[in-house]
Amino acid sequence: MKKLSRREFVHKTIKGGAMSLAAASVAFKPESLFAHANAPIKFAQITLPYTNNALEPYIDALTMEIHYGKHHTAYIKNVNDAIAAESISYPSEKEFFANTSKLSAKARNNGGGAWNHNFFWQIMKPASSAPVGKVAEALNGSFGSFEKFKEQFTQAAMTRFGSGWAWLVKDGSSLKIGSTANQDNPLMDVSDLKGTPLLALDVWEHAYYLKYQNKRNEYVANWWNVVNWDEVAKRLGS
Ligand code: MN
Repeated sequence: MKKLSRREFVHKTIKGGAMSLAAASVAFKPESLFAHANAPIKFAQITLPYTNNALEPYIDALTMEIHYGKHHTAYIKNVNDAIAAESISYPSEKEFFANTSKLSAKARNNGGGAWNHNFFWQIMKPASSAPVGKVAEALNGSFGSFEKFKEQFTQAAMTRFGSGWAWLVKDGSSLKIGSTANQDNPLMDVSDLKGTPLLALDVWEHAYYLKYQNKRNEYVANWWNVVNWDEVAKRLGS
């Protein structure tokens, strides 16, 4: 980073402060002239929080390389292309997905693919352990036990026909399990399953076919070894 002179630093700091104030006032005045605050959403791919081989032997390095580097990268590019080409103007993920019913198939499928995978990478980590604390309590409260929760989630992952996702969501004070087709997610107005996503499992064949071929059941069973329950806890809130 370039070293700033004191004068440049002060100037930039003041300017930054003014921008923040402007952004705050825009929240109360949508007609504001500060158009930058309402710029259309642009999806960005998160940096993978671990290396491609970190989830071995449960998820193999080549699958990660192709899944993150090719599939996910393409969803990000394609949704941003659709946003530009179709002049989609929603300024946030929340509004983008709340209006999915009005989007083209390209924006819907790639927007879901962009968001879902960013979420998926974050809720995994090497060397997982069982959930504790409030997550364990919430799972026990909603499903009876951690084992029963796993059974029900596995059922959702196994019965999703074709491509899609299994989800654990928070809906008000309760937790729910369900699945969505293709790249749909529970933030979308078109989804039957709605709520705040806490956990997701990609059951597209591209997520497991190289290592597990047609044995989705083995992929799902092994995936529990890489769930990042700390990230689930963050999303569950207090
Ligand atoms: Mn995928």
